Amino acid sequence: MRFLVDNNNKRSRYFPVRGKALKLPVYFPSISSVKTGLSPFSYFRILKSLNQPHFLISAFDIARARNPFEFIQELHQNQADDGAIVLMDSGNYESYWIRDKSWDMKAFNAVLAENVCDLAFCYDNQFPDKDPIKNAEAVVLSTRESQSTINTASVIPIIHCDKSRLNEAVLSLHAQTNALMVSIPERILGDGLIERITTVTNLRRALNQLDNYVYIHLLGTGNPLSLLLLSLAGADSFDGLEWCQTVVNTQTATLYHFQQRELILDDCNFCKSDLDYTLKTLGHNLNFYNHWMNKIQSAMDHGAEKDLLKEWLDPKFVMELQKIWDQ
Ligand SMILES: [Zn+2]
Repeated sequence: MRFLVDNNNKRSRYFPVRGKALKLPVYFPSISSVKTGLSPFSYFRILKSLNQPHFLISAFDIARARNPFEFIQELHQNQADDGAIVLMDSGNYESYWIRDKSWDMKAFNAVLAENVCDLAFCYDNQFPDKDPIKNAEAVVLSTRESQSTINTASVIPIIHCDKSRLNEAVLSLHAQTNALMVSIPERILGDGLIERITTVTNLRRALNQLDNYVYIHLLGTGNPLSLLLLSLAGADSFDGLEWCQTVVNTQTATLYHFQQRELILDDCNFCKSDLDYTLKTLGHNLNFYNHWMNKIQSAMDHGAEKDLLKEWLDPKFVMELQKIWDQ
């Protein structure tokens, strides 16, 4: 599969953040107050106690926490300890679902200015101008405005648009800002895996023509098989809620209902522990995700991506991938 070989030679293996090098591809477990079981602060404390090295939090959830001061204080402590790399989302996802119309860019920038994260996504517009150049211009303005409030965190632009105009919008954004990373919601990439893989592959092909490497982050990607396939298609970074909404079958890399962990007979340290059901399941999931990303990283280091596909996917599906990646 020619694309995999070409892209293996081109892709960056690390993303620089807080003087560290984050090995790629990377999955950030997300914390959100929407469609999850515990409070964002509880999830934050669990991730810290499990020594998760990187995760995503929402600015909205920090501002709307029962005790925002305590949350911010612990995030400051995390920074002071040179602890986990924290990626912060604008909170538009939560404010939309919770229907909090008071959440705006000013509120987001106020949390950003608290110096609680290393990376942050810009305050994004879900319904941008249809013209890709005007769309990119608005994203540049939003990113710049937020970046001006803080110099210890990098603000990453997000592009929402129709997939048919994605390359134009991202290239226009790059021409205006020379952005190191661009972020795109997974759901705009198309219907079904094949379409989504094709869209990312086409974008990666276009970005690989540029002089500097542009990292791609996909928002809302946390299914293990999607992480594998979209990484190979050229995405570098991901975030998703699956780690706290479902339980992963470590033998098949498929997801079950959160309350079905007993169906999975693995002997990871968490399943063997005396922790309560929730902690055991979250630990089991995080353990899997960290190993899973290591496995993908290692396959890339050894040029063995095809072996990974054969190991985890049906041969007929691999033939479909060949049609995209042989070109
Ligand atoms: Zn387990």
